[in-house]
Amino acid sequence: MAAQGVTPRSEDYSRWYTDVVRMADLAENAPVRGCMIIKPYGYELWENIKSALDSRFKATGHRNAYFPLFIPMSFITKEAEHVEGFTPELAVVTHGGGKELEEPLAVRPTSETVIGHSFANWIQSYRDLPLLINQWCNVVRWELRPRLFLRTTEFLWQEGHTAHATEAEALEHTLRMLDVYADMAINECAIPVIKGLKSQQEKFAGAVDSYSIEGMMGNTWALQSGTSHFLGENFAKAFGIQYLDEDNQQQYAWTTSWGVSTRMVGGVIMAHGDDKGLRLPPRIAPYQVVITPIWKSEEEQTLIRSFCTGVEDQLRAAGIRFHIDEREGLSPGFKFNDWEMRGVPIRIEAGPRDCEGHSVMVARRDVPGKEGKQIVPVQLLATTISNLLDDIQANMLKQATEFRDAHLFEASSYDELKEQVLDGWSLIWHCGTRECEDRIKEETKASSRNFPLELNPEWNPAGKTCDVCGKQAFGRAYFSRAY
Ligand SMILES: [Zn+2]
Repeated sequence: MAAQGVTPRSEDYSRWYTDVVRMADLAENAPVRGCMIIKPYGYELWENIKSALDSRFKATGHRNAYFPLFIPMSFITKEAEHVEGFTPELAVVTHGGGKELEEPLAVRPTSETVIGHSFANWIQSYRDLPLLINQWCNVVRWELRPRLFLRTTEFLWQEGHTAHATEAEALEHTLRMLDVYADMAINECAIPVIKGLKSQQEKFAGAVDSYSIEGMMGNTWALQSGTSHFLGENFAKAFGIQYLDEDNQQQYAWTTSWGVSTRMVGGVIMAHGDDKGLRLPPRIAPYQVVITPIWKSEEEQTLIRSFCTGVEDQLRAAGIRFHIDEREGLSPGFKFNDWEMRGVPIRIEAGPRDCEGHSVMVARRDVPGKEGKQIVPVQLLATTISNLLDDIQANMLKQATEFRDAHLFEASSYDELKEQVLDGWSLIWHCGTRECEDRIKEETKASSRNFPLELNPEWNPAGKTCDVCGKQAFGRAYFSRAY
């Protein structure tokens, strides 16, 4: 518990990230390489993201269910693109109960196949549609270059799976869930993500089209923070998901799937952190407020303790998540730095003088120094803190949006793109072909993020050509370095 700070971001961004994850007590490496032990503070952060999503899923008509961890290998091989895409990342169980299994079992990398199998049984008639299911679970994708939260062999996520009677309805639902993700990222995590269509190379294995939300991290790299897939009839045909329509004709259902994972925690760390460490948006912070009682004598201690009880009652009544730091043998200064590094939005100091004046010192994490401090009378604490938390949430979104907008560029040539991706995202007219994307990636390390929906109301009405290769453009796409 040394008082030394995290490595400054400007010095080494990657080490800064590792320091923050470790020193803020979010997670650590597991004995199996690529796996992650999520510590309580990191897990509580994930739980808050999780509940923000879960309530939105329920509000849009989904129900939670649970499907098995093991998937028969024959399921995975039923959809041609799916098997090709996932085989390199699969963990496969060949033995069970001391014997070699007749059929190897895949540890789920995602559950389209096993859920498709169930959907085929559950869906008989048009009356069974739409079917809207979500599951919270872990998945395994073997990771060769792991990083805590960002890329781990086992990770936690939700996967939504829906079946619809028509193509239009399934496509509409794919975009509805993309909106749900964007709403969560922007309004809970304060990350101003950009919604868009992935290129055919970057789409989910087995999808017709994939859409993503992309967030800009503090070093201007992108983080794909959630995806929503329009699966067409691909999985319905592979698994026989059929229904009798109103005219008694057999039809294939149209399906979607969509996921957000513990990657989002990595996104929150990198979108908001500064040289002092983590900065957490109040709506998802495990502790919105930390109270540090300050005393010197035993007499003062008794006094401050009872004073703090009054402070706690106020916060509890206002539904604020708070923690009181009563660790012995640590100076107040150490504690302030510690909670600052752990990103707690508001710090309250309560010492003998505050007690006398029936007030406390309140300091906000998002505004450094004196400007972020104010003395608040105890009787006004609940309303003041509630308002401050809203203010901090809004300010963090504003800061992240200003940072993003200052690093979004438009290029009209490949040379401009090369320059722009050194310090931001570059928007170009893009053909969407594999050759062109591979070339850009090899020469600049930037990958295609998405074709933003807002900037492509009609894709390419004027018949523009690709700014890099000169072929017919598909639309306008962002390129950037990415995690
Ligand atoms: Zn091109």
